Amino acid sequence: MKRRDILKGLTLLPLSGGFISKASAIGITDTPTPQKSTRDLFAELGVTPVINASVTMTFLSGSLMLPEVLEAINSTSHDFANMYELQDKVGAKIAELLHVESAMVTSGAACAIVLGTAAAITGTDHEKIKLLPNLPGPRPEVIMQKTHRYLFDQAVTTTGAKIIEVEGNDEMEKAFNERTVIALFFNAAGKHSVTHEDFVAIAKKHNIPSMLDAAADVPPVENLFKYQKIGFDLVTFSGGKMIRGPQSAGLLFGRKDLITAARLNHSPNEAPIGRPMKVNKEEMFGMYAALKAYLERDHKKEWQDWLDRAKRIGSQLETVQTVKTETVVDPGPANAFPSLRVTWDESKIKIKPEQVVTALKSGTPSIVANGGKDYLTVGVVLLRPDQVDIVAGRVKSILQQAV
Ligand SMILES: *Cc1c(COP(=O)(O)O)cnc(C)c1O
Repeated sequence: MKRRDILKGLTLLPLSGGFISKASAIGITDTPTPQKSTRDLFAELGVTPVINASVTMTFLSGSLMLPEVLEAINSTSHDFANMYELQDKVGAKIAELLHVESAMVTSGAACAIVLGTAAAITGTDHEKIKLLPNLPGPRPEVIMQKTHRYLFDQAVTTTGAKIIEVEGNDEMEKAFNERTVIALFFNAAGKHSVTHEDFVAIAKKHNIPSMLDAAADVPPVENLFKYQKIGFDLVTFSGGKMIRGPQSAGLLFGRKDLITAARLNHSPNEAPIGRPMKVNKEEMFGMYAALKAYLERDHKKEWQDWLDRAKRIGSQLETVQTVKTETVVDPGPANAFPSLRVTWDESKIKIKPEQVVTALKSGTPSIVANGGKDYLTVGVVLLRPDQVDIVAGRVKSILQQAV
């Protein structure tokens, strides 16, 4: 399933906040059931809370922050900090956790691509940093595979750089010249005409850094270590997807000289291209807390919990005549986790999957799921434990009503 496809037919609605710990009916309890606080801002503003039975999507507010992240945000909000020092210390800790030379917190993976490209263009040259994206002379060039072109490469051209498309090793070899600054690899692209290893080796041979965008590519947790081992000089992940940090935070990590240059291109410096991409103090602490919690979590148990959720929903739905369910795992690398595929005999249950999606969305509570021509997909990984049975009950009742 492509993110593009998932994006179709969904509406822009945020998720609920305000948590206290509470034991759940099943599985992992790290997304506690929320307790309504005395002030309900959703109600106050008339914003519809949404149950996400899909995948992490920016327009749907990304992910739900872990309790550790909310605690980090709250507990650090009462004092000032020097932002240079904070980025130093948080970056050093993240670098240690990820076994790299250096790291920084960015305002998301898209910002990391801007900063990584900017770093490769300017190095530590303050004059160039000030001029970006309007450097005099020919535009800096960034090498990408033709099959890797994607919406987020606008983050590359934001710096004033131009993208040079290549297909296969030979074309990549020939693409380097004195204007080349960096080579960008989109990890979740459908097709690689140059492998990860070759991409890194060819860039190294030409003494040009390589950067990899793996924004949505955990789980598995091992991916947080995999690409620096292959030799990519810079790697980025989103903070607000399955790592479950602040939605407006992300990670950029790798070579020290490049991170130093990326930081010079970022807030709290006042004039660089990254100044409008500020990350606040609480988000920096929060991103660190999220990464640490993510690395420390029992990933096997979490995976089992997701399978249990799918099974639990599936067994409730299969009580409706002709309904069949199957747990499917997206091969990734983006969104590589289980979800439930639901099919039925449309001559017996007279509703199409996309109509079920519409009914789920327009109901109360509003539920976002995905429906193709042939089946309904019910996502389980972003549900709070208390929402598992709610989703099962709603899908079941919509199907039953169509019998
Ligand atoms: C989500 C995503 C981004 C953007 O990440 P943010 O953290 O939202 O800035 C970039 N690239 C890919 C492949 C993504 O999936």
